[in-house]
Amino acid sequence: MDKENLWQAVLAQIQFNISPANFSTWFKSTEIFDKQGRIVWVSVPNAFSKEWIENKYCKLILKILHNLDEEIKEVKYCVGKTSSKAPREKEMTSLPVFGQLEFQEFKIDKETNLNPRYTFENFIVGSFNELPHAATMAIIKEPGLIYNPLFIYGGVGLGKTHLLQALGNEIVKTFPQKRVKYISSEKFTSEVVSSIRNKKMEELKEKYRTLDVLIIDDVQFLAGKEKTQEEFFYTFNALYEKNKQIIISSDRPPKAISALEERLKSRFEGGMTADISYPDFETRMAILNFKTQERKINLQEDVLSYIATNIQKNIRELEGALNRLVAYQKLNNQTPNLEIAQSLLENLIISPIKIINPKKIIQVVIDFYDLKEKDIIAKSRKKEIVKPRQIITYFLREELKCSYPFIGKKIGGKDHTTAIYSYEKIKKEINKNENFKNEISLIKQKIYS
Ligand code: ADP
Ligand code: MG
Repeated sequence: MDKENLWQAVLAQIQFNISPANFSTWFKSTEIFDKQGRIVWVSVPNAFSKEWIENKYCKLILKILHNLDEEIKEVKYCVGKTSSKAPREKEMTSLPVFGQLEFQEFKIDKETNLNPRYTFENFIVGSFNELPHAATMAIIKEPGLIYNPLFIYGGVGLGKTHLLQALGNEIVKTFPQKRVKYISSEKFTSEVVSSIRNKKMEELKEKYRTLDVLIIDDVQFLAGKEKTQEEFFYTFNALYEKNKQIIISSDRPPKAISALEERLKSRFEGGMTADISYPDFETRMAILNFKTQERKINLQEDVLSYIATNIQKNIRELEGALNRLVAYQKLNNQTPNLEIAQSLLENLIISPIKIINPKKIIQVVIDFYDLKEKDIIAKSRKKEIVKPRQIITYFLREELKCSYPFIGKKIGGKDHTTAIYSYEKIKKEINKNENFKNEISLIKQKIYS
């Protein structure tokens, strides 16, 4: 086998093993440029992909090469070398063509509420979302049978909706006879409310209880909506008993959704729970690399790394930064360099240190737990109120270094010793309990957003 065919054979097998987005990001401009005895030299487009491929795919590549040609025992990677006859662009025609995406109009299907924009082809998988991604893959094989319900949670802009929608689209494609519906919990709530008002509950029941796959997004918004929760509970049971697949997303784990009925929480926990965390630097670079290809813009590596360094917790913001640079490029017919990028992204990235105050902390915590400010000040010793009160204490001390007497006053005229006790209690709990720690970090994120 000559070098070119050998590499094509390797690529074909790799493509089988990893997601199309990852494939296109990492292997687009690679080739074998030399082979001497037991060593194969692979050329990669830049230092960054060299590191990535060496770290993540090195073993896989060697294994495939060795299977194809037993003589091969070692693979080395070099940046930017190309063999003399290297019609790179031509070879790539077999890969998915991006760039057309932005001209495509995406129509949301009226029956399923699915948007064809969201696919697995344009979904990057990294360690931060590996588990929920794997769970969706398992569901596609046998909807309703393995992970039911699947509960995916994670912060804003990290791909929950994308993953849920991609799963829905894939199920429709694989099982055209199955009835699939995607709905946000806010939309579901408003349907319940209007069905009650118009005395059309029977229709609503019929509509949801006869589905094969129900996908419900942002379920934290059901908090406090008792009637909707009740209807959802019966829908859930009806589907679950018939082995119909239910997929749920939320910004926090079931336990941490306050004002959600216990029976629903325990239903949610009864299946598979998987969280999406934050993408690490390499994955952020991978996402940017992929999205630059999609948008057909060629940005220098230092520009991409500037964005990836400064935007860490939200993929939607990564996209936003990129879109600005694309807009600049279109307007000026010039690719922005680092200096231009820095000034274009200034207000997006170097946001002045967020000024927070006690009022903001209290507001975020009471919103999070679905309470009113008067609950915090009142004398109540109910657990649902004591805990948020202690969390407010914790943040006032930790983030603003407020004095204990001041904190005592803020939480309803309590003694400063109560404030000290509360602060210590939360601190201990954070060290002890991983779930609680995540809950606190989610609240902190909201305080600073
Ligand atoms: P969430 O529902 O968690 O708030 P979204 O699913 O709306 O987040 O994602 C925000 C944006 O980031 C969307 O445009 C989505 O396509 C994109 N995105 C999220 N995760 C990924 C990923 N893993 N790969 C590629 N794009 C992603
Ligand atoms: Mg969403």
